[in-house]
Amino acid sequence: MSGEQRASVSLIIPLYNEVDMMPGLVRAIEAFRSERPEVDEIVFVDDGSTDGTARKTQRLVSDLPGYVLIQFSRNFGHQLAVTAGMHFASGDAAIILDADLQDPLPVAGEMIDTWQQGYDVVYGVRRQRDGVSWLQRATARVFYRVFRRMSEVDAPLDTGDFRLVSRAVLDAYRELDEQQPYVRGLISWLGFNQTGVEYDREPRAGGSSKYAWRDRMRLALDGIASFSGRPLRLAVRIGLGVSVLSMVGLLWVLVARLATDSTVPGWASILFVGFFFGGLQIFFLGVVGSYLARVYEEVKGRPRYIVREVWSPPPAEESSQD
Ligand code: UDP
Ligand code: MG
Repeated sequence: MSGEQRASVSLIIPLYNEVDMMPGLVRAIEAFRSERPEVDEIVFVDDGSTDGTARKTQRLVSDLPGYVLIQFSRNFGHQLAVTAGMHFASGDAAIILDADLQDPLPVAGEMIDTWQQGYDVVYGVRRQRDGVSWLQRATARVFYRVFRRMSEVDAPLDTGDFRLVSRAVLDAYRELDEQQPYVRGLISWLGFNQTGVEYDREPRAGGSSKYAWRDRMRLALDGIASFSGRPLRLAVRIGLGVSVLSMVGLLWVLVARLATDSTVPGWASILFVGFFFGGLQIFFLGVVGSYLARVYEEVKGRPRYIVREVWSPPPAEESSQD
């Protein structure tokens, strides 16, 4: 596009208790930067780590140019850490990646090449995922497909948050102020020229996963709830369907009873049916409640994250001003 710069790239890396990862991560970034001089800013977002990640990071990068460390006042969650990074990044483009090097830096290099050909969003598509249980892999596959069916956004399958976004997308993202942002969904929703590069996801290079199953479930439900009202419509349809079926069932039982003139046995199955529909009702009450909770979060309109400090290494003394 006219006059649009495609020269400098920021990296956005959320950190939550990644102290063991930091030396390897900084080493990998420095090696990558020596090949890709476009990368002139690294935005670390410390999401309220309690293991000294911030101090360790400051020590590691104290005489390296281009690093910024944003410290949250507490743990706000991965999606908000990424969001803050996107707000702070100043490059012509930014690449979002995990601290654990599961998203390989050489692929980030490919993303930069693709962006320089004129794309605005280059997302990583996972070809295979090592070091992840088959159950996690299977549920992720199912989720991405359900999400795509349910939401009206054209979200690519099998992609995490690992992606490059151009300045235009960063600026547009700033306009979104959802309380519980589902970053990958929002970026798809924004549109622009999007494309993917395939890659094999590495196992975690150190430390342990910061996402418990509960967090994954929550992210999945956040994703669906923020992009689709379909669960609500589904509740209406299932409710109607069940009513009609039970009317038909009742008529059938009455007719059968008249025909054979015998009492209908089976109080146990009636009890079961009662529990089943009781459960279904509570489930859909929960669905409605979760949308209500989201509305409540939005209405309160609190700031989404609180920054305690923005730190960057002091400029080296002997180097000249630039
Ligand atoms: N993370 C974060 N806040 C959290 C949880 C995770 O900033 O509350 C970061 C974490 O440090 C890592 C990225 O999000 O850089 C992805 O987390 P993780 O690798 O644990 O997730 P997984 O790859 O297992 O899904
Ligand atoms: Mg990971």
